[in-house]
Amino acid sequence: MIHFIDGQFLAKDSLTISIDDRGYYFGDGVYEVVKVYDGELYTAEEHFERLSQSATKVKMTIPYSEQQLIDIAKELVKVNGIVTGHIYMQVTRGVSSRVHQFPNPEVAPVVTAYAVHNQRPMKTIENGVGTIFVDDIRWLRCDIKSLNLLGSVLAKQEAFEANCAEAILVRDGIVTEGSSTNMFGIKDGIVYTHPASNLILNGITRRVVLRLCEENGIPVEEKAFAPEEALAMDEFFMTSTTAEVTPVITIDGKAIGSGVPGPLTKKLQEAFARQIPVSVAG
Ligand code: PMP
Repeated sequence: MIHFIDGQFLAKDSLTISIDDRGYYFGDGVYEVVKVYDGELYTAEEHFERLSQSATKVKMTIPYSEQQLIDIAKELVKVNGIVTGHIYMQVTRGVSSRVHQFPNPEVAPVVTAYAVHNQRPMKTIENGVGTIFVDDIRWLRCDIKSLNLLGSVLAKQEAFEANCAEAILVRDGIVTEGSSTNMFGIKDGIVYTHPASNLILNGITRRVVLRLCEENGIPVEEKAFAPEEALAMDEFFMTSTTAEVTPVITIDGKAIGSGVPGPLTKKLQEAFARQIPVSVAG
């Protein structure tokens, strides 16, 4: 596979990363994952706009415009022949000997990206997944898509050890989001999800789903809810670039609603499938 590193497209085996990269030492960087359907980037503008915003929030300047980043991603799709898959891109603050404060004089950020072939996770999209509640021990700037993912890594591992697909994070008695997904509950026909604040990543898929709710006349309340309220929802689902709209059928081993993907979740899945390229919509 061909990767991108600092202006060059290179085979994975021929590229090198410095041990002094601040991404390696501190997780000092930001990233994005952009889905590819039918050889086309999906919601690319939104993803690269969020990448720029994440960089600005950590006082980094990406040495490419959003359009140039899109062009890099498109080139990776092309040279790697990606039909269905995703692009991963990250930007670190650059290479400098290990001190916490920013390098002075400033060094150039390191931009790397690569492409992955993968199919849509149809099995879990159709059947749903089990989840567990896990304490949200992450920092207070979850709105930044930062490379610092230890809180998410530990939560996801806990879920996997419990034979579950995702951890539902709980901070101060409220459900924030998943370790790598946004969480939604449905009660009496109303879709509830945590408001976009510093406590969650405002997912691009989350935004698509909120738009689809509006277009389909499904009422939404961006309002935090407690774990007990989550357990009492009629339906529950999670969203992300790779998970799309995945039903959550159990939390901590307890069935949500009737324990199968619910009708409004299915309606949203159908609406989601309709707005991605037809030949992969399934
Ligand atoms: N929340 C967190 C913590 C995530 O890591 C992700 C995926 N990166 C999401 C939500 C979903 O975001 P998106 O829909 O943009 O993939």
